[in-house]
Amino acid sequence: MQSDVTNYKPLTPSNIDMLPQIEALPFDLRQDIKVVSTVFPFRTNRYIVENLIDWARVPHDPIYQLTFPQHGMLSPADYSTMARLIASHAPRAQIKAAARDIQMRHNPHPAGQMVYNVPQLNGVPVPGVQHKYKETVLFFPSQGQTCHAYCSYCFRWAQFIGDQDLRFASKEAEGLARYLAQHPEVTDVLFTGGDPMVMNARRLRQTIEPLLAPRLEHVHTIRIGTKSLAYWPQRYVSDADADDVIRLFEDIIAQDRHLAIMAHFSHPREFETPIARQAIRRLRDIGCEIRMQAPIIHHVNDNVTAWATMWREGVKLGMIPYYMFVSRDTGPKNYFEVPLAEAVHIFRQAYSQVSGLARTVRGPVMSATPGKVHITGTAQIKGQRVFVLRFLQGRNPDWVGRPFFARYDQEATWLFDLEPAFSSEAFFFDANTEYASA
Ligand SMILES: *Cc1c(COP(=O)(O)O)cnc(C)c1O
Ligand code: SF4
Repeated sequence: MQSDVTNYKPLTPSNIDMLPQIEALPFDLRQDIKVVSTVFPFRTNRYIVENLIDWARVPHDPIYQLTFPQHGMLSPADYSTMARLIASHAPRAQIKAAARDIQMRHNPHPAGQMVYNVPQLNGVPVPGVQHKYKETVLFFPSQGQTCHAYCSYCFRWAQFIGDQDLRFASKEAEGLARYLAQHPEVTDVLFTGGDPMVMNARRLRQTIEPLLAPRLEHVHTIRIGTKSLAYWPQRYVSDADADDVIRLFEDIIAQDRHLAIMAHFSHPREFETPIARQAIRRLRDIGCEIRMQAPIIHHVNDNVTAWATMWREGVKLGMIPYYMFVSRDTGPKNYFEVPLAEAVHIFRQAYSQVSGLARTVRGPVMSATPGKVHITGTAQIKGQRVFVLRFLQGRNPDWVGRPFFARYDQEATWLFDLEPAFSSEAFFFDANTEYASA
C-alpha cells in the first residue's frame, strides 16, 4: 500500500496491462478495457487497484465499475465498430476519428455549461470562471483540469479527451480576484475541475492565496470540490508536499475563512482504508469541514445500504452529508442512469435509516440548466401521482424554494423528461431552451 505514496503515477490504457490484476482478468474484460477506453477517457492508479477494488468480485465490484471502462458503456454497434478497427490494426487517425464521432453523439457539454455562465469583467469574458448563482462562483484552475483517476460516469469527460474547444480552463487566478473585487455579493468560491487537488501545493497556494486579500473579505468560504480523499488520500498524508497542503489550509482558516472540502465519495468503501481515515482526520483536526456528495449511479451505488452506510460512517468520521446527485445526460449515461423514481425511493429508504445528524443530506438533486432541482418525493394529489420538486438554486433566485409538481413517470431520468402535473401547460420556469441540454 505504501508503494506509490510520494510519487503519483497514473495508470492508463498504455501501461495498465503490466498489472498482475489486469493480466489475471478474463480475455473479454481486458478487451472491454481496450475497446471502451478508445472512446471514453480511462485513468486509474495503484492505490485504487490495490486497495479499493475487490478483484474477487470483478466485474461487479462497485469501485471497478466506477473506474474501469465497462462493455455496456458503448452501444453494441459502437462497440463492434471500435473492436473491428482495433482488431484490424486500423491507423491511429482512423480509430480517433471513429471515437470522436461516437463522443460527439454523447452530449459532451451537458446543461449548457459553455454557453450560459461565463461572466464578464468590463465587457471581457473572465476565463475559467462560472457565475450562475448569485452567492457562489465556480473557478476552474487550468492546472486542475485532470483527476487522480477518472470516474467512468464523469460528466466532465470531454475535458479529458484533449479537445481544446471543450476545455473550460483559466489562465490565472488574477482574473478571478479582479472579478470578485467587483462582486461583493459573492460569499463562496468553489474550486473545481477536474480536480484542483491534482495541483501541487505551490500552485494551489498561488491559486487560492489572492482570495485571502483584505479587499476580498466578502468571500467567506473557500470550497474545494475534489475526489482526492477517495482516489488519492496520500495527498494529505504522505505525498512529498502533503504538509504544505495542510499548511495552506491552515492559513486559509487563520484568515477567518470557512474551508470546505466538497468530497466526492461514491461508495463507503472509499473511506474504509487506513490512509483515507488518516487524511480525513488530518483535515478535521485543522478545522476543515468535509461535505460529502456524489451522484447515484447504476452498478456503483444504486442501493440503500451503500448510501445509508456512507452517511452513517461519514458522520462518525466527522464529515457532513451534503448532496445525492442525479447523474447528468452525458457520456455513457445509458449504462449508469438510475430513474428518478428509483433514486427517490433509495434516498428515502437510506435517509430513514440514519440519525438526524446525517439528514443534512439533500437529494436526489439534478444540477440542470435552470438550476439545482431537488426531487423532494412523490405524492398522490387529487387522484394524480406526482413528483414534488423545488429549486435549491435557480438561474432566477425567485424560483428557489417554490414547490412544483410533475406527473409521476417511472422511466424519467432527467428534468427534461418530466411533464407538468394537473394539466398545466408548462412549469413556471419553463422555456424549453432553458432546460434542453446544450
Ligand atoms: C451546485 C452549484 C453551486 C453551489 O451550490 P450550493 O447549493 O451552494 O452548494 C454553484 N454553482 C453551480 C454552477 C453549481 O452547480
Ligand atoms: S472526480 Fe469528478 S471530474 Fe474527476 S473524473 Fe470523477 S466525476 Fe470526473
